Amino acid sequence: MNPADTAFSTLPLPAAVLANLERLGYERMTPIQAASLPLALAGRDLIAQARTGSGKTAAFGLALLARIDTRRSAVQALVLCPTRELAEQVAQEIRRLARAEDNVKVLTLCGGSAIRPQLASLEHGAHVVVGTPGRLLDHLERGSLGLDALATWVLDEADRMLDMGFADDIAAIARHCPASTQRQTLLFSATYPDDVAALAARYLREPREVKLAERPDAQQIRQRFYEVDEGERLHAVGLLLEHFRPERTLAFCNTKQQCRDLVAVLQAQGLVALELHGDLEQRERDQVLVRFANRSASVLVATDVAARGIDIAGLEAVINVDIAAEAQVHTHRIGRTGRAGLSGQAFSLASVDEMGRVGRIDAMQGRESEWQALAELKAAAPDAARAPLLPPMVTLQILGGRKEKIRAGDVLGALTKDLGIEAEHVGKIDVNDFSTYVAVHRDRADRALRGLNTGKVKGRSVKVRRL
Ligand code: AMP
Repeated sequence: MNPADTAFSTLPLPAAVLANLERLGYERMTPIQAASLPLALAGRDLIAQARTGSGKTAAFGLALLARIDTRRSAVQALVLCPTRELAEQVAQEIRRLARAEDNVKVLTLCGGSAIRPQLASLEHGAHVVVGTPGRLLDHLERGSLGLDALATWVLDEADRMLDMGFADDIAAIARHCPASTQRQTLLFSATYPDDVAALAARYLREPREVKLAERPDAQQIRQRFYEVDEGERLHAVGLLLEHFRPERTLAFCNTKQQCRDLVAVLQAQGLVALELHGDLEQRERDQVLVRFANRSASVLVATDVAARGIDIAGLEAVINVDIAAEAQVHTHRIGRTGRAGLSGQAFSLASVDEMGRVGRIDAMQGRESEWQALAELKAAAPDAARAPLLPPMVTLQILGGRKEKIRAGDVLGALTKDLGIEAEHVGKIDVNDFSTYVAVHRDRADRALRGLNTGKVKGRSVKVRRL
């Protein structure tokens, strides 16, 4: 982009705002700002793919501030964030940006803080509210927060909010907002999986998409091939995992039997490996996917058919335990890693009999594949002192879900408030009809399990087990 186009002065912003940006040392727009601000200031709904550090907060912050009339004492902008820490950061940045204008009141409303002072602050009036979904909903339901005058609704880190199980809370908050035609809605997300697309389709009106992360391409995926004998193929998978230590790996086999055998070998080595196959009941399949998505399993072993339709972004590695019969299937498999601007690794094990297939893959990719000897991994094999590869999280299953009116916020509250487990040690929370799955950091799992089993979630005793 031409540098002249990235000056803040190209935007329809008041002189005082421009002067404040200069004081803040913001000399030019960051790429996400240059792409989104002209549209946002023109009142368009936006889906912006941007991560922390990209300047995304100022992108929506300047847009929402432009629509605030401080003479009106009412909440005119609402920013939803997944965590309290992010909400505090966002509020701070909005306050900095708002210095140009007189008396813009920015208030944070997050769980984990006492509610009384929040009620008092709300009575004094706020123009911008930043908060986490559970607590915001609490205020909306009490009537202490009203959104009739809302001009801008921002969903920040939408992917993380969904990962943390806030979909229902977001839907409930939306019901308190003015209709989508009466407000501007801005959705920011680092990744753009199907559930975020569905969220956007539901709450945004003719949104424009702003995407900067390049599409993942073969260049971002480092591929290595290893020649194996049939007898060492399954064992080689364990060697690769222990050597490269990817956090999450999708391993493809050509047959169900091979999947079963591989899972048995990996589990015997102490790895947390799960199998996804067509014979699983829906409930079992959901459980496997939840555990893999929430980082409490290291390896998911699947056939191409079973893996169809699973959308888990940002996998560190893909292993082709067998070479796919068609080159196109191979490309599709390795495309599961290296998503959303992240680099990924793809490992392929090939026997002499599979060299013809590898040749076709090379031809399709227009380059020769890179080979490494398995012996090199063996030579660099981990010393005994090295800890076995384990996933960072553990999944706890609470026997009770939507039917018992359990919400993600209740579980988060029980873990953080009642049991004193830090929010950063709590991962994805999936509330299903009859079950709730919560990922807890491995080091906190015992405490969480004991605490939940003896304590209460939403005022009642629950049964919890470790998966
Ligand atoms: P964010 O991605 O919103 O967390 O922003 C990352 C950091 O960049 C924050 O500390 C901002 O204050 C800063 N920042 C945002 N926009 C600009 C800009 N145009 N020029 C310089 N710094 C910026």
